[in-house]
Order: sequence, then structure tokens, then C-alpha cells
Amino acid sequence: MSKRFDYIIIGAGSAGCVLANRLSKDKKNTVCVLESGPQSNSWKVDMPSALLYTMHDPKYNWKYYSEPEPYLNNRRIFCPRGKMIGGCSSHNGMVFVRGNPLDFERWASYGLPNWSYKNVLPYFKKLETWSGGENLYRGGKGPLKVNRSKIDERFPLFNSLIKAAAEAGYETFEDSNGFKQDGFGTFDVTIDGGKRQSVARAYLEEVKNYNNLKVKHKTDVSKIIFKDKKAIGVEIKNNNKTEVYYCNKEIILSAGSINSPKILQLSGVGDPKLLKQNNIEVIHELPGVGQNLQDHLEIYIQHKSKTKDTLYNLSTNYFTQAIEGIKWFLLKQGMLTYSHLELGGFVKTSDKYKHPNIQLHFFPSLVINHGLTNPSFDGFQFHASPNRPKSRGFVKIKSDNYLDSPKIQFNYLEDEEDLQQMRDSVKIANKIFKQDSMKKYLGDQLRPGYETNDKELDAIIRETADTAYHPSCTNKMGVDNLSVVDQETKVHGLDNIRVIDSSIMPDILSGNLNAGTIMIAEKAADMIMNKQEDPINAEFYN
Ligand SMILES: Cc1cc2nc3c(=O)[nH]c(=O)nc-3n(C[C@H](O)[C@H](O)[C@H](O)COP(=O)(O)OP(=O)(O)OC[C@H]3O[C@@H](n4cnc5c(N)ncnc54)[C@H](O)[C@@H]3O)c2cc1C
Repeated sequence: MSKRFDYIIIGAGSAGCVLANRLSKDKKNTVCVLESGPQSNSWKVDMPSALLYTMHDPKYNWKYYSEPEPYLNNRRIFCPRGKMIGGCSSHNGMVFVRGNPLDFERWASYGLPNWSYKNVLPYFKKLETWSGGENLYRGGKGPLKVNRSKIDERFPLFNSLIKAAAEAGYETFEDSNGFKQDGFGTFDVTIDGGKRQSVARAYLEEVKNYNNLKVKHKTDVSKIIFKDKKAIGVEIKNNNKTEVYYCNKEIILSAGSINSPKILQLSGVGDPKLLKQNNIEVIHELPGVGQNLQDHLEIYIQHKSKTKDTLYNLSTNYFTQAIEGIKWFLLKQGMLTYSHLELGGFVKTSDKYKHPNIQLHFFPSLVINHGLTNPSFDGFQFHASPNRPKSRGFVKIKSDNYLDSPKIQFNYLEDEEDLQQMRDSVKIANKIFKQDSMKKYLGDQLRPGYETNDKELDAIIRETADTAYHPSCTNKMGVDNLSVVDQETKVHGLDNIRVIDSSIMPDILSGNLNAGTIMIAEKAADMIMNKQEDPINAEFYN
């Protein structure tokens, strides 16, 4: 078997599968994708309601934890990351949000003109086939099937919540991934025909049997090998065997926001002090590797429900589970075809923000302990998070052993403004819940409680706030001293190596990150092949 390829892609996640598809379609290229995790052809991946199974299963998940978080009462925060073909796209919440156009204008303002809205829009269009039909903003021919959720037509509670948001003064959006993000409504979802649309299904399935593509799962990349400043191959561990695979053209690191900086550090690229502490020879000094870690932190606003319209019955009643299971396994129909995380909104808490600074998700149940504990009664919740938090953390290796988890610290709420935005988001959730259309459903508030003052609210936030599962930005793209890749996604100061995944976002997007990561990979694939989509000058609301 050949161990030499033109391109070696590390990680078959949201970015890696896109790159595998686009690069292997040029039959002149030989491409190898190396993935730590197993295949993802399991009902636990396909069934939209089953996302909890793979989140807590070490076979499919890296299951990281943060260090004690100093501003969250020293709690260690769970940091699940998909470990399988498809990566996080095989176990995420399937909410499809591009982010706000102004996010990309901001990226461009950091010396990255290629990433302005007009330059990323063609790639957002290229990646999708949208159920609403092709238009100036949306794509109609892409590999990923993106559908506007119709959950409000099926479940009255969702419909009532959209009405309540309107009664509270928030508009109902037509398409929050188009001209204007602001408002409330059903999200777009990566669910199609009752099944999850992972990148594995949308991108890898089509090319996986190509002669010029090799996909190797259950294979860890332990480090990248350099000759002077040039990446020439990777060291892999497979069934207790160590091997080296070589590249003719480029190594593409797509191992995600935690493992991509870890692999660079293990390979001798990073802050020299950290590398020396861990007995690693310094290949190239880049102090920004692993810095700039960002995430969305959520506060849950939880209520008892006066009706039985929640998921309580489904999550606790074996008879209902059996009926719904049969419907899904035989027909891909019923309650299990929904993720139920399909409605929410984007709002401003103050005029000082140029675009919505809070995202709210609605869920018709109570999330306890990342879904591991079932609620003991009917309830529902909003979870709300600041879109562009200012607090910054880091990812650092703890040893030179590739099997050791890195040290992950988010420093959530280090910046006072992040806390202020969380406080304000509770007021918005309360305002919506208290509208007439929700009267029929609204039982007592369980958390944080209507009567809490700001001091009590802060204490509740510090004790209970949790991740929205969006770690990112740890190998940021840019031109300053802490940036790791340039706007072509090439690692500064090194040859033949790019990082292409959610770690290169300069700062976090205003929304969930799967769409943005796939867009990055689509655009970078064109850069590798010296191609470029024409920019699209489309107006956007601001
Ligand atoms: C529980 C959860 C829910 C989420 N919900 C949503 C949502 O609803 N909507 C949304 O848009 N986003 C959501 N996200 C976030 C989004 O899915 C991720 O940000 C995005 O998929 C990240 O893509 P990536 O390519 O950067 O990394 P990943 O998709 O994580 O891919 C990295 C891949 O590299 C592999 N890898 C790592 N190290 C090695 C190694 N040493 N050798 C070989 N392979 C390696 C990993 O196993 C993985 O398959 C969620 C994330 C989680 C965890």
C-alpha cells in the first residue's frame, strides 16, 4: 500500500470531509484522510433525537473537560467533540446558522479582505441545497441538504412560542441566514428525510470509493513531521503500530479547535516555553497556537409546563419510545425525526450592539447535566448566550504523549460585559414567556426565578451556566503576532501546511459553527486548487 499522497488531511470532521470531497474530485490528486474515530454508520448518528448517545459515548466522543473555570465557581465544564467520520457534524444539534454578515466584515477588518461577506457568501451558497429555493443569498445545488424546520406546524407549543415572541415585539424572521438575521422563528436544520445530514453523508459518501482517495479511520495522527520548515509527512498510530505517511504537496490539519492546536504543539509548532516544558523540540515559534479560545456560554431559563406538550413523555415512557422507535426505524417518521432544538432567535440587548448580540434556543424539555438526567416532570426552557463574548482562553498540551488530553481553559465570564449580556438575556426570555400566547403552558419558573435581583442572578449564572459546545478560534487567521495562519489558511512561517477548521476563525461567529466551518473548508479547497468563486455583492441588514 502506498504511503505517499499529494494531500494528507488530518481529521474527517466538518472541514475534513469537505476537503476530501473537493480535492479528490480532481483525479490528478491523491488524497488521504486520517481519522481517530470509527465509522459513523449507526442509528445513534442518523436519528435526530438521539444526539445524546454519541455525546456521552467515549467510542464516538473525545469527552474533554475544561480546567476549573475561575469565573464559574471553579466548575470544570464538559467539552464534547465528535470522534468519528463526520466529526462534530455527526453528533451536533443540527441547527444551521451561518452567523451574521457583519461577523465576516469584522474578519475582513483584521487584514483578511478575502473573508469579507461578499467573498464568503458564494461559498455559503455553494455548500447547500436549501429547501426554500435558490436566491441571491441561498444555494440550490450544494451537497448539504439544509431544510427550514417545520416543527411549529407539528407541535403547538412551538407555534405558540413564535406568537409570544411577536407579542413581545420581536419580528418573525423569514430567513435568518439571508438578508436579515434578527428576530424569532424556526431555524434551518441539517435534517433531511428524517435523518441527520452530517458532512459524512453530504460530502464523503459520494467520493469514498474513489481510487485516488484513501479514508483511514481508527487512526491517530500523533504528530506532523517537518524537514526544516517544510511539512513532509505525519506520524500515525494504528493498532499499536507506528507508521509514517508522506505528502507530495500539503498536510491539511482539520482536527478541530481542541486537537488542531494540540497536534501543532506536539509537532514543535507553538510557544517555545510551552514546548520546552514538555520536552518537544521547537520547529517553529508561533506563540498564538492554542491561544484565543472562545465559546458561547449559555444560561438556561427553565419553566414547569402546565400541559403535556413537552418531551417528558417521550424521554420517560417506554411505550411511547417503542411506538416512536418503530415509526422512525421503519418509516423515518414521527417525533424522533426532530432534534427539537429547532426554534429560537437573535436579539439585541442594547442599541450599543450593531447586530444581535444574543442567540436564544428553545427546547421543549429541561436540560439537566448535558441530558444525562431526565427531568421528573413536564417543563421547557430557553437557553441564551452572548454571540460575541470577549473572554478568551487557551488549549495547551500537558505532556509530549499524544494520548494525553490537553489543558483547556475558557475563562468564561472573565470579561464583565459577557456577564452583563447574560443577565440581559434572561430579561428577554422572561418577556417572551410572559406573553398571552404562552399562558396556557407557563408553569412556575424553576430557574433563575422572576424575583432574583442582579446579584442573585450573577450567582446563579456562575453556578449553572454551561457551554453551547462551540469552542473555536485557537489557531486564528490573521496578520498579528498571535495569528497562526494567513488568509490563505497557510501556517505562518512554514511550508506545505495549512490549518482548515473551526480553529482558524479569527473570532467566534454569531451563531452555531457547523455552517461557518463548512464554508471555510469550501473556500480553502478552492484556494488550494487556485480557484475562486466570484464575489456576490448582496445587501445585508445592519
Ligand atoms: C454537542 C454539540 C452540539 C453542537 N451543535 C451544533 C449545532 O446544532 N449547529 C452547529 O452549527 N454547530 C453545532 N456544534 C458545533 C459544530 O458542530 C462544530 O463547531 C464543527 O462541527 C467543528 O468542525 P471542525 O471541522 O472544526 O472539527 P470536528 O468536526 O470536530 O472534526 C475534527 C475531526 O478530527 C478528528 N481528530 C482529532 N484529532 C485527531 C488526530 N490526532 N488524528 C486523527 N483525527 C483526529 C476528530 O475525531 C474529528 O472527527 C455542536 C458541537 C457539539 C459538540
